Amino acid sequence: MPATTPTGTNYDSMIPFQSHAPGYWPEEAMEKWDDPKWQLKNRINSLSELEKHINLTQEERTGIILSGNKLAMSITPHFMNLVDKDDPKCPIRRQIIPRMEESLDDPQEMDDPCGEDSHMPVPGLVHRYPDRVLFLVTDRCASYCRYCTRSRVVSGVGEQQLDTQMEAAFEYLENTPAVRDVLLSGGDPLLFSDGKLEKILARLRAIPHIQFVRIGSRIPIFLPQRITDDLCNMLKKYHPLFISIHTNHPKELTTEVKAGLEKLSDAGIMTGNQSVLLKGVNDDVETQKALVHKLLMCRSRPYYLYQCDLIKGSSHLRTSVAKGIEIIEGLRGHTSGYAIPQYVIDGPGGGGKIPINPDYIKEITPEKVVLRNYEGKEFTYPEPQYANVEV
Ligand SMILES: *Cc1c(COP(=O)(O)O)cnc(C)c1O
Repeated sequence: MPATTPTGTNYDSMIPFQSHAPGYWPEEAMEKWDDPKWQLKNRINSLSELEKHINLTQEERTGIILSGNKLAMSITPHFMNLVDKDDPKCPIRRQIIPRMEESLDDPQEMDDPCGEDSHMPVPGLVHRYPDRVLFLVTDRCASYCRYCTRSRVVSGVGEQQLDTQMEAAFEYLENTPAVRDVLLSGGDPLLFSDGKLEKILARLRAIPHIQFVRIGSRIPIFLPQRITDDLCNMLKKYHPLFISIHTNHPKELTTEVKAGLEKLSDAGIMTGNQSVLLKGVNDDVETQKALVHKLLMCRSRPYYLYQCDLIKGSSHLRTSVAKGIEIIEGLRGHTSGYAIPQYVIDGPGGGGKIPINPDYIKEITPEKVVLRNYEGKEFTYPEPQYANVEV
């Protein structure tokens, strides 16, 4: 009998690594383009600036006007160049350009969907899990994701303030030996200068029971110019240090982003990617497959795929849990295990991350487990029958 060889399609060629610079800024000198300060200074923050570059729909125009006192619009030139000029369905556009639907009132939505405010022993420090904390060190980002789970405090235009008490947070960590893992987030900690960030890392590293430090950042995607040699040389003094990045669509992985991620890897920093499942952005197997394959090419490991939190004004971006399960089903077995993120739902109201998996167990008894594989074929694993006999 001939061996059966699985067949499949390779989607990697669909969206190659490429640079989009200078894009909408054809006049700009390349050295300015590579300067993170120039990128930050030239962010798109207003309707009039945005309209100079792209054709907006009425839903977007209204969304931008209404976003003014909720979650600011801000887009780095680097990321702006990924936006399609004419296509309102552009997967990049939906992530960072406000839409009118953000103002829709959905009673199921919340200001604080992950229940963070009620898990803060010190303002700005979320201690939900036994051994690790989320430390919100800033309320600013390089650009703002429209589905931000922390939009209640991020960007500085809403009613609520983050109000992190840095000194009290360090004291709490010093006095809480159960905490062995600190995740710096915000906002985006990589917006800090190297010096300011180093002070925080050095202070954490001086606490003996803190074994592991992570930084959550979308700067490698929004502002890859920030990933400098100096930054990497500073960060690598504080190992073991991981960085959780945030990429949703393969187009976001440009040559500049790849170079930045490689620099981090060369400095010994593991990067894990967190994606949010978003309607019209990445809610199909092909897009997710292209994304995870490109991530591995950048030496970044897909870490979590999040079901979109029930954040206020996100209904137009949320998709069903069934869709998420279908995506994982479409990856597992069909591609490298390293390419597959864990799909999770952050339990609404403060349940923490709950893993969601396709069901591969058909039957489980003390004698056996009946399973199905990725092709739908059935297999039986007999349970050990002498487990209770003493030897
Ligand atoms: C996500 C999160 C963490 C980190 O969780 P991991 O599963 O270890 O990545 C820690 N604290 C809070 C409050 C979080 O939301």
